[in-house]
Amino acid sequence: MHYYSTNKQTPPIDLQEAVVKGLAGDNGLYMPERISVFPDSFFEEIQKMTFQEISFEVAKAFFGEDVETDLLKEIVYDALNFETPLVPVLDSIYSLELFHGPTLAFKDVGARFMARLLQYFIKKENKSGKDSRNVNVLVATSGDTGSAVANGFLGIDGIHVYVLYPKGKVSAIQECQFTTLGQNITALEINGTFDDCQALVKAAFLDKELNEKLLLTSANSINVARFLPQAFYYFNAYAQLRRKGIKNEIVFCVPSGNFGNLTAGLMACQMGLPIKRFIAANNKNDVFLQYLLTGFYNAKPSVQTLANAMDVGNPSNFVRILDLFGHNHDTITQFISGFSCSDESICETVKACYQSTGYLLDPHGACAYSALLEKLQANETGVFLETAHPSKFKETIETIISDTVEIPQKLQEFMKGKKQSTELGKDFSAFKRYLITR
Ligand SMILES: *Cc1c(COP(=O)(O)O)cnc(C)c1O
Repeated sequence: MHYYSTNKQTPPIDLQEAVVKGLAGDNGLYMPERISVFPDSFFEEIQKMTFQEISFEVAKAFFGEDVETDLLKEIVYDALNFETPLVPVLDSIYSLELFHGPTLAFKDVGARFMARLLQYFIKKENKSGKDSRNVNVLVATSGDTGSAVANGFLGIDGIHVYVLYPKGKVSAIQECQFTTLGQNITALEINGTFDDCQALVKAAFLDKELNEKLLLTSANSINVARFLPQAFYYFNAYAQLRRKGIKNEIVFCVPSGNFGNLTAGLMACQMGLPIKRFIAANNKNDVFLQYLLTGFYNAKPSVQTLANAMDVGNPSNFVRILDLFGHNHDTITQFISGFSCSDESICETVKACYQSTGYLLDPHGACAYSALLEKLQANETGVFLETAHPSKFKETIETIISDTVEIPQKLQEFMKGKKQSTELGKDFSAFKRYLITR
């Protein structure tokens, strides 16, 4: 299958090149040139299938032409060795808990998936006689991406990962998850914001000299191998809804930062998944909401909020959404609505939900839950994606609910390690020198 750039200034390429390169040469994002539609019978039978079985079918639709079936199956089953339960919170509102993976991040699946696919393609390139090179994965993180990518790529030979994160702006637990691993994982503590980290990564990909010296790629949701596997979640949620007898009027509400997760959901719909509409839940970084309201897209510097994984002022996957809808603002607003949640409202929502239902939200899930409370219509069933485990924001949540939050064993393990990181400024020249001299 070929992948085209959303800017359409470079020729379509194959999956191998899209995964290895990440970003297209014209600065666009890659999109699959075809999206296959499942027959109705697939959706009639879906509730009898396991998460792994469903995901394998979806994975074949995207990657089946480019990866041998047995290997693809192995990768899917390896990346998805946990459940994403659908938990009722209120009448007609369900939490889709995506945080049961190895680092308790929904990004675990995409990260592991991409690590395995990249490793496969690099080995293939090296075998075919092109000079044998290591790949350097650059990833900017506001918290969860770094941990998921670091863990997904840990110990994979031939690939070195650099995690760039804003100093003092990720939670202690999140920081432990990518600074304590060692091996092929290097943590770079940047004196700046998440947007500065993302800008450094982008500048690195566009720097000619750097790209001649090093093979660089990204593991942000820019990469097709990172964001497409997130479509699995939506199919699996639908299977779980059908098991409860629900199959119509389904609304997904997605806490959004770079909009990779939401874009994957839109892909699932294009594959025939019967979803009525989406709500994109933002924190105060709401350029997408402003776009929906006005038709104008104005990237802004990000502001810091309690839902820090969504502190994004220029969401990279916005161009993919435009592309999917042929840049038609009307069509987009018919299918997706927006929502912006302040820090005060996040706190109130976490507290009220905990007190009235016993369900503990994290700050990201709280934005989405709050959006559903306001926007879900009487006949609809709302599913919000609960993207992080509340204990990752232990202090914040404990202050809000005046109660203690247990840290799961899996997370405690990370906190035992020793923090190793290198501090860097936000200017590109120093970062470039660092990479070249390593
Ligand atoms: C990454 C992340 C998000 C945002 O996901 P996007 O795909 O970037 O929109 C939301 N919540 C949490 C906890 C995250 O880690």
